[in-house]
Amino acid sequence: MAPSVVSQPTVISDSDNAPTYTASNGCPVFNPRASQRVGTDGPLLLQDFHLIDLLAHFDRERIPERVVHAKGAGAYGVFEVTDDISDLTSAKFLQKGAKSTTFTRFSTVGGEKASPDTARDPRGFATKIYTDDGIVDWVFNNTPVFFLRDPSKFPMFIHTQKRNPQTNLKDASMFWDYLSTNQESLHQVMILFSDRGTPYSYRFMHGYSGHTFKFVKEDGSYVYVQIHMECDQGIRNFDNDTATKIAGENPDFATQDLFEAIEKGDYPSWTVSLQTMTPEQAAKFRYSVFDLTKVWPKAEFPLRRFAKLTLNRNPQNYFAEVEQAAFSPGHLVPGIEPSADPVLQSRLFSYNDTHRHRLGVNYLQIPVNKPLAVFNPVERDGGMRVDGNYGPFPNYQSTKCPMRYQPGSFTTMSTAKHNETWSGPAVDLSPEVTDLDYEQPRALWKVLGRQKGQQENLIYNVATHLAAADPAVQQQTFVMFARVDKMLGEKIKDLTLKLAKK
Ligand code: NDP
Repeated sequence: MAPSVVSQPTVISDSDNAPTYTASNGCPVFNPRASQRVGTDGPLLLQDFHLIDLLAHFDRERIPERVVHAKGAGAYGVFEVTDDISDLTSAKFLQKGAKSTTFTRFSTVGGEKASPDTARDPRGFATKIYTDDGIVDWVFNNTPVFFLRDPSKFPMFIHTQKRNPQTNLKDASMFWDYLSTNQESLHQVMILFSDRGTPYSYRFMHGYSGHTFKFVKEDGSYVYVQIHMECDQGIRNFDNDTATKIAGENPDFATQDLFEAIEKGDYPSWTVSLQTMTPEQAAKFRYSVFDLTKVWPKAEFPLRRFAKLTLNRNPQNYFAEVEQAAFSPGHLVPGIEPSADPVLQSRLFSYNDTHRHRLGVNYLQIPVNKPLAVFNPVERDGGMRVDGNYGPFPNYQSTKCPMRYQPGSFTTMSTAKHNETWSGPAVDLSPEVTDLDYEQPRALWKVLGRQKGQQENLIYNVATHLAAADPAVQQQTFVMFARVDKMLGEKIKDLTLKLAKK
């Protein structure tokens, strides 16, 4: 796919109906391309509000880039429940036949806003579901696991995958040094360095909740769930060398692919399924259901289909709708609750915190983020409050004084009564890496063995990257891969050392 102008700029040809150009205060401008100055060659006049305001606004066009997931593309769609799961959840938007409008933003993770779409990186797959009970954000990735299970490692981990603080270069030594000394990351590393680390585009990859969530019912019962979005287009990946080539030729490849497919009516869709586990099963499960580095084997916990996500409408304005889209795993509605997964718990804080920083405290009023209905007159004022701010409505609630605000109704479903009972001393978390942590990487190695050429590609993909690392870091990385499979470690070593010599 060659880089192209994917859509023509909007041209207003009917000059009678074209709006009159004004300064930002609404004042018609005589000549928008001329500044006011003294005489022919004299200095500018500060009284030229149009010029000063244009420049001042231009200087502020950029908002802070997301620290992670900076490069992205998005589209609206529909989420339709196809199968009955009322035995699992009372969430209204999850009842069979329910249809909700959605907005999905796909992204790479480590690169900056202009970085190539085909970079080897996990992909973000975040879907905002506008339900009658409020916004639900499913802030998923295209991989079922993650690099860590203790959130205190997250900033350090991300630093090692981004740029060296001195050289401002990507740094293979710190990249592999972190991964080979925090080997709970190995499962995700193996997926990342398989060809699924370079998906052809956003339309050809799955999405996974990764975290365990709870589906709850009004009677207080709950099950643990893992949500899978399986892409109906089929999996399609670039090999390492093609991904690198495309990165140079068309860094916006996946962004363009998504926009153009939707523009021509070729709507991508995903079949949404879940795996369930009762609390009793979870207590007996070989791994912790709160460990983000583990999957639930499908043979034991089969997928159960329940919905379809279809993307069918492009945004009209990238900044307004994609750049300002603000997702949070904490945006949930009655019927779904977060589990005790510590990484999920930390995200419940961090995402909203990021949005308050990037977009301001009233970020949920931005149209793409706005719930279908919202009524909270206690949250008032704040930067960029641009609606009526609840007018004269009381800003506190009282059950005593009838003159004060009393809510019309509360929901009948508490989001607190389904919580497990936890007790114990305060401890430092970070579970040690044990033999259990190598079992699923080994299972994946076998899965790759069932697909022609995929074990070889994993070896090649790792070696081409690792060849640029410091020799000591290379050694500890060979040892890590040998714990999955002796031959894998040896082959990565042979090829890495061969490439490093070149
Ligand atoms: P199965 O043997 O039942 O299925 C294998 C799974 O691996 C499928 O979901 C398949 O996706 C997926 N897969 C294939 N190639 C890759 C790749 N390069 N990167 C990531 N996933 C890939 O799986 P089990 O449940 O018994 O688990 C075996 C291993 O499969 C796990 O250790 C894990 O690494 C991987 N896996 C498991 C998932 C799960 O939820 N259980 C989910 C994804 C991966 P597809 O269906 O598209 O072919």
